[in-house]
Amino acid sequence: MGSVSATAAQAATKDQTVNEALDRILKGVAPLPPRDVPLLEALGAVLAGDVAAPRDVPPFRNSAMDGYAVRGEDVATAPAKLRVVGELAAGTPPSRAVARGEAIRIMTGAPMPDGADTVVRVEDTDNGTDSVTIKVVTATGTSVRHAGEDLRTGETVLERGTVLRAAEIGVLATMGMARVKIVGRPRVAVLSTGDEVVELDAELRPGQIRDANRYSIASAVRAAGCEPIVGGIVRDTADDLRGALRSAMATADAIVTSGGVSVGDHDHVKPVVSEMGEIEFWAIAIRPGRPLAFGTLIDAAAGRSDRRVPIFGLPGNPVSSLLTFELFVRPALLKMSGRTKILRPRARAMLTQAIEKPKHLRFFARGIYDADTGAVRTTGPQGSGILRSMALANCLIDLPEGPDRFAAGESVEVILTELPEDRGALTIA
Ligand code: AMP
Ligand code: MG
Repeated sequence: MGSVSATAAQAATKDQTVNEALDRILKGVAPLPPRDVPLLEALGAVLAGDVAAPRDVPPFRNSAMDGYAVRGEDVATAPAKLRVVGELAAGTPPSRAVARGEAIRIMTGAPMPDGADTVVRVEDTDNGTDSVTIKVVTATGTSVRHAGEDLRTGETVLERGTVLRAAEIGVLATMGMARVKIVGRPRVAVLSTGDEVVELDAELRPGQIRDANRYSIASAVRAAGCEPIVGGIVRDTADDLRGALRSAMATADAIVTSGGVSVGDHDHVKPVVSEMGEIEFWAIAIRPGRPLAFGTLIDAAAGRSDRRVPIFGLPGNPVSSLLTFELFVRPALLKMSGRTKILRPRARAMLTQAIEKPKHLRFFARGIYDADTGAVRTTGPQGSGILRSMALANCLIDLPEGPDRFAAGESVEVILTELPEDRGALTIA
């Protein structure tokens, strides 16, 4: 068993702000290496680089309607009678041009013949075969789709960091990209610590509680688009923790633990991680969730001495751990996933009740925000053990350091935790 270094054992002396801590965490993580995958496996993944159109889409001028390809000047007055000189279905190249007084029957998606600059919808004609009567004046250029009107050759169509949804997959398909370069999806080991914490099916003995955090955190990992690796419950001994971290770092791209980051006698995260890598142990000026550890495990195993795995030590209280995950771990995992937009959207809202808070701490009340009226209220009792306060919430009410009370009617800022970061403001490089 290694010894605990003096610096590692030192408790943090000064509280950090939420923003300082988030800054340092984001500096400490990097996007995973890119991988090439078949297009159909890319849903939900993040583009590793900008994608430019290799050629125009659509590749040729074509008809947007079933109708007649004509010269605009011939249909500037109606009715007009034109000679039908051919027919064009989608997929067939034109074999002749359209001259004055002529029309070619054309189907949606068929290439426009030379000479024609306008398509008259079949509904606006008598649908004739040898000759056609145009019944409606049709402006030049109507119902013609131009080459490159969707995507132009060389133009950046999708940017690095874009999350690939069905529409983006379709855009990549039109460009002929059967494979796409995405950022790997982080695999995140999730561990609970605590001698009092037991499995869900265990008979509860005095002093024991069921493990909430492995389930909530693993689910939050999945909701962030990452793959949770659910570990066990780690006993409050340095040996147990060391073993659990060793096996976690063998497969995981990041590790999240809960509990054991306070300064209690049985809080081992800090000394054990210090011995296996580097860890910073912070008191954050926040409620809930004051203690937080962030560090890097360094895999010294032969041949892979370079492998560094970020580790987040969250507080054990179920509200604190889930809330600090949302504020600190989720943005970090999104950055590791290659996302460039990593903060949730925010809104101004009107408090419908007074909220008391500790003066020197930034307080994140769990709230219910009504987008229609712009009003927000809390979810009820806000203790850090009251997990129901998170379950009922659709936002976090972000109350800054300084005041110890916010009155009903005051304007406050809320974090819209139900909305994806794509719609938020901050973009990281
Ligand atoms: P700790 O951060 O280890 O001092 O734990 C703080 C509080 O959170 C204690 O009341 C723990 O019993 C509780 N706690 C720790 N881990 C869990 C967990 N996995 N599920 C539910 N409660 C927990
Ligand atoms: Mg504990």
